[in-house]
Amino acid sequence: MTLAVLPEWITLTSTLVMLPIGLALLVTVLVQRQRLAASRRARDESETNLTKFSSAVMNSGAMIIITDSDGRIEFVNERFCELTRFNADEMLGQSLAKLSAIVNLNGTETGVTTNFLDCLQPHWKGELLCQTNGATPLWTAVTTSSVLDEHGDTRNYIVSAVDITDLKIAHRRMEQLALFDSLTGLANRRLFQDRLEQALQSVRRRGNQLAIFFLDLDDFKRVNDSMGHDAGDMLLLTVAERLKACVRGQDTVARLGGDEFTILLHDVSDPKDMTMIAENILASLKAPIRLNQQEVLISTSIGITTAPSDGDRSETLMKNADLALYRAKDKGRDQYDFFTSALNQRAVRLMNLERELRHGLRQDEFSLLFQPQVDLSTGTVSSLEALVRWQHPQRGEVMPDEFIPVAEDTGLIVPLGNWVLQNACMQIKLLQQLTGQQLRVAVNLSPRQFRDPALEGVVDHALSASGLRPESLELEVTESMLMDDIAAVSDQLGRLKARGVTITIDDFGTGYSSLRHLKHLPVDCVKIDEEFIMDIPDNRDNIGITNAVISIARELDLKVVAEGVECGEQEYYLRDQGCDIAQGYYFGAPMTFESAYRFFSTQGEQQMLKA
Ligand code: C2E
Ligand code: MG
Ligand code: MG
Repeated sequence: MTLAVLPEWITLTSTLVMLPIGLALLVTVLVQRQRLAASRRARDESETNLTKFSSAVMNSGAMIIITDSDGRIEFVNERFCELTRFNADEMLGQSLAKLSAIVNLNGTETGVTTNFLDCLQPHWKGELLCQTNGATPLWTAVTTSSVLDEHGDTRNYIVSAVDITDLKIAHRRMEQLALFDSLTGLANRRLFQDRLEQALQSVRRRGNQLAIFFLDLDDFKRVNDSMGHDAGDMLLLTVAERLKACVRGQDTVARLGGDEFTILLHDVSDPKDMTMIAENILASLKAPIRLNQQEVLISTSIGITTAPSDGDRSETLMKNADLALYRAKDKGRDQYDFFTSALNQRAVRLMNLERELRHGLRQDEFSLLFQPQVDLSTGTVSSLEALVRWQHPQRGEVMPDEFIPVAEDTGLIVPLGNWVLQNACMQIKLLQQLTGQQLRVAVNLSPRQFRDPALEGVVDHALSASGLRPESLELEVTESMLMDDIAAVSDQLGRLKARGVTITIDDFGTGYSSLRHLKHLPVDCVKIDEEFIMDIPDNRDNIGITNAVISIARELDLKVVAEGVECGEQEYYLRDQGCDIAQGYYFGAPMTFESAYRFFSTQGEQQMLKA
């Protein structure tokens, strides 16, 4: 049928009727075509996506494992094989449980297993240890997602696991550094504190008893200084091992720093058990330790406190144990002692003393006494030692042995020592002017004062303000101060001596300074402690020590002072042995400025009387 042969109206009508039909057909075709093109494009796209996805899975930096809904492995990627050393074929069909592994800490198995099946959940994230084929298991960060079938049931799990072993090791190392002592591997202060808090909670809940041992090695510094820090470290390591061997596995041995150790003993109720452990520790540490081809002997002092009987707060218990330790040290070291409430009373007394000392400094309650030092060859007083006294408003005169250690511990010794130095210089200058004699003054320096960087300035000021010549000032340092960093000590002594003052080692023989030390130090004089002058000439041991010190000093070109001379026999003996100077009640007790002035005014008569 052609339009040309049809009547015009028919043609028109049919054209009008046909047009929409044709258009509809055209749209349908076009839509279909477009749909076809779209679906082809979608298919192409999904093919491309699939290729991309499978390439991503194959080459992923993460290990990818695809399992069925029961966790049977259907696919593993190359990275998985590379890291676990498992072969892909041998894994297919295996359960994911094959990848579970036992957690191992520092070479010991913990008995904790991480179960890889744990991750078979629709959306799971976590860390699992992944088994390998003969190598160390890997720590992995795991993410799981599920693939659902048309009914919404899980068909597959896609498990992605990233190797985080290095991260875990770094983390563990950080934890180790934060909680364990890097030298000995023992718990550090923080971990000890944590464990103590936990143990105290259990004491409150279960009513059991625990004990804390505080240990401080006796004379560790001597070993460290004389044999070097490496030897010191070796010694600490040996001590740590021995301490661990003395307690049970569940107890905590910690190193708080330096040569301080603590032990937390759980569930000890019988004091006999604590005594036994303390005695074991003392005995075990006494066995000689070989360091640098030498046998070294060490001992320790131990302070013991128990909870809940002595307290149930960690700060109280640590303080108690510390007090008990100090008493053990005071009793002569290589001992243990238990905390008692009397000890606590002592601590309270010390605290009060500190407060009163501060007050006393402000209120000018301190004064100086002077004790003559006699030149044994001429019989004249060559020098005076300045000794501080505290005039306490209620207690009367307080002796330095009682308050100097507290002043030292609290730092109050620095202002007090400066006061002593300035007043000693001023009073001796006045005495020089009044008597016309070139007297010298000896001033005691405490360890803290000696280490104070401002000391040189204080000495300069004391000399310039008083007008005393530096040759008239002697500084007394104790032997124990010289055991610190020898180079720093020598520098400090050198700087002081450069001002023209002289240096004396006080209480010589009570510390452990070796001759090797003495030879290299810029000192002028040694003062033999009164302990060795006592009972001379009857005590053979003391005679031996005194004679040895005199001969060493002579060899090193040092002057020797003997203190604590109380009778003529001692004076006679010391002079005979070549001791240069003597000090003691025999020649004169410490006296006030006024008495010292009177002493010098009558000195001529006294000498005549003695002669
Ligand atoms: P030190 O420096 O060894 O002083 C000698 C001590 O022996 C003095 O005790 C003195 O009184 C005492 N003494 C003197 N002659 C005899 C004697 O014949 N027999 C006996 N048994 N003892 C005698 P003091 O004055 O009680 O001083 C004790 C310690 O206090 C001093 O020992 C010194 O280490 C310290 N000290 C005293 N004054 C000061 C000071 O101003 N600063 C510092 N840092 N320490 C001081
Ligand atoms: Mg002295
Ligand atoms: Mg002395």
